[in-house]
Amino acid sequence: MSSTLDRRRLLQAAGAGAVAAVAPATEATPGPASLTPARSDIGVSAYAFALGRVRLGPSRWLDNQHRTLAYLRFVDAERLLYNFRANHRLSTNGATANGGWDAPAFPFRTHVQGHFLTAWAQAYAALGDTVCRDKADRMVTELAGCQANNSAAGFGAGYLAGFPESDFTALEAGTLTNGNVPYYCIHKTLTGLLDVWRHLGSTRARAVLLALAGWVDDRTKRLSAARMRAVLRTEFGGMNAVLTDLYQQTGDARWLAVAQRFDHAAVFDPLASNQDRLNGLHANTQVPQWIGAAREYKATGTTRYRDIAANAWNFCVGAHSYAIGGNSQAEHFRAPHAIAGHLTADTCELCNTHNMLTLTRELWQLNPGRVAYVDYYERALLNHVIGAQNPSDPHGHITYFTPLNPGGRRGRGPAWGGGTWSTDYQSFWCCQGTGVEAGTRLTDSVYFHNGTTLTVNLFLPSVLDWNQRGITVRQSTAYPASDTTALQVTGDVGGSWSMRIRIPAWTSGATIGVNGTAQNVTATPGTYATLTRSWTSGDTVTVRLPMRVATHAADDDADLAAITYGPAVLCGNYGDTALSAPPALDVASITRTSTTALAFTATADGRPVRLTPFHDAQGFNYAAYWRIGGRSAGNGTAERL
Ligand SMILES: [Zn+2]
Repeated sequence: MSSTLDRRRLLQAAGAGAVAAVAPATEATPGPASLTPARSDIGVSAYAFALGRVRLGPSRWLDNQHRTLAYLRFVDAERLLYNFRANHRLSTNGATANGGWDAPAFPFRTHVQGHFLTAWAQAYAALGDTVCRDKADRMVTELAGCQANNSAAGFGAGYLAGFPESDFTALEAGTLTNGNVPYYCIHKTLTGLLDVWRHLGSTRARAVLLALAGWVDDRTKRLSAARMRAVLRTEFGGMNAVLTDLYQQTGDARWLAVAQRFDHAAVFDPLASNQDRLNGLHANTQVPQWIGAAREYKATGTTRYRDIAANAWNFCVGAHSYAIGGNSQAEHFRAPHAIAGHLTADTCELCNTHNMLTLTRELWQLNPGRVAYVDYYERALLNHVIGAQNPSDPHGHITYFTPLNPGGRRGRGPAWGGGTWSTDYQSFWCCQGTGVEAGTRLTDSVYFHNGTTLTVNLFLPSVLDWNQRGITVRQSTAYPASDTTALQVTGDVGGSWSMRIRIPAWTSGATIGVNGTAQNVTATPGTYATLTRSWTSGDTVTVRLPMRVATHAADDDADLAAITYGPAVLCGNYGDTALSAPPALDVASITRTSTTALAFTATADGRPVRLTPFHDAQGFNYAAYWRIGGRSAGNGTAERL
C-alpha cells in the first residue's frame, strides 16, 4: 500500500530535470586484473565486472570515493601495525599507538586492520592506486614477520592478532570475560589478506592467509561439537563466509570443512524453516553469517543454505528495516515491524547495511529478475551508506549510527557509539572499517553481464569498459535530482545484444528511447525492461523514471511516515533546533522548488520547513519521520515481498 501524490507541479518540476547539463564520466582505463577463483559459483546467472572496469563520473558517489581514498592514502600503516608487533613480541619501531577501538588495551584491537587491507586492495583494483597497493604490501610483509615470530612469542603456527592467543583458550573454555570477540577479528584479517591476494596478486598475502586459516583449522578441529557451539555464542563475524571464499579461491575442500564448523545452528535452523526469531539478537552478529550461508550455497549447491540467506533477507528488509534501508536499534533487532517505538539516536548501524548490501548482491546474482533486491540496494546505498560519510571532512569520516529520532543529527549518536564523526586515529570503530570498504567498492553493482546481455542496475554517472565485447557504456545523469539517465554505447557494438534496465517499483510511466525515438519496450515498475537490437556505435539510450512524492508509513503506526521522492528519502532541515516529537507534516504542502536539485518546501507544525535529500543531511538536525495526520497507511512497494 503506497500513498502517492501525483501533483501536477511536482511532476512538472521532475520532468524538467535535464541530463544534457551533466558532464560525462571520465574515460575508463582498464584497472589491474584480479585473480580468477579456482571454483566458479553455483547458481549464478549475472556476473559482476571487475572493479577496475567501471569508473565513476562527477557525483556524490565520486566525491565519497575521493574522500575515502584520501584517508586511505594518508593513514599510517606503521600505526596500524603497532598492536600486531607488540603482541608478536616485535619492536613497534617507534610508531605511535592508536586510540579508540585500536588502543593497546582495547579487547578487540586489530579488528580494523583487515578492513584497511580490503579497502587498499579495492582502491588498487578500482583505481590502480599504487599508494594504497604499497601500503597493503607493506602491512602484509610485516604481518608475515609477526607470524614468523610466533614460536618466540609462544603462539601456535599461523596465529596472527593484536591480542594473546590465550583469549581463544578462554573462549573455548567458556571463561572469556574481557569483552574480546576474537574470531570477529580473525575474520576481518582473513578477508583483508584474501582481498590483497586476489586484487594485488600477492603471493605473500596468500601465504599469510593460508597459515592463519590453517591455525583456525588446527584450533577448531579438536573441539567437540558442544564446545564449538559454545564458541559460536561469541560474535565471530563471517568466518563461514571468508573460509568458503577461500575454498572457492583455492579449490581446496579443507577450507569448506573449516567454514562449516562455523555454521551456527541457533541462527540457521529457524531461518531454514522460515521463522523470524530475530527479536533481541545483535544485528551485525547475524548478517555476516547470512552472507556466509549464501556463499556456502554457491560453493555446495545445498539449497538449505540458499533458503537461510533468502529468508533472512526477507525478514530483515521486510520487517526490521527503516525507510532509509538501515536496521537495528542500539545494534539489536527488535520485534518484527516494530519501528515507531524505536526511532532513536542509535538506529541503523553502518556495518549492518553495508553487509546487507553484500547479501543483497549475492542473492540477486542467484535471482537477477527480482527487482526488489536492487530497489532495496539502491535505497540503502543512497540514503544510508552514502549519507553516512561526512562531506565536509576531506578524509570522509563516518557516523556509526544514523539517528532517526526527531531532531536527530548524523555524527551525534550516543557516546558508546562514538558520539561524533570518526577521526583519523582515535576511533577505529567497526563502522569506520566498514566505511573505508564501502567507499572503495561503489562501482561493483552498477552493471552486470551474462553472455550477450548487459544489466544496468544503478543510475549514476559512470563509464563501463565491457572489455569482453569491446564495448564502452557511458552513463550520464544527475539522478536522483533528475529522473532521466542517458547511456551511450560505443566501440565494437555490432550485432544483436540486449540491454536490461531496472525499472524500480516506485516509478510509474517509465519510458525508454534510443537516439531520441521512443521504443516500444515494456517498462513495468518492478521489472527489468529489455532492449534488444542491432546497435551502432554512438547509440544513446535514454531512460526516464518519473518520480513522485510518496509516504512510507512505519509498519506499526500508519500515521508516522517517512517521505520519499523516487529512491531518495526526504528529511526536514531543522538547523540547530531540538525536536521533542515528530513534526506534523502537511503532506499536500510538499512542493519542489528547484528543477536541478532535490529541494522542497512544506508546512510542518504550521511552519514552513525545507526538505532535502536525507543522504545530504549532514551538519544539521533533521526530521526523517513525520506525523502525517492519517493521510496514508502502509509501506511503499519497495517492501512488498
Ligand atoms: Zn559497525
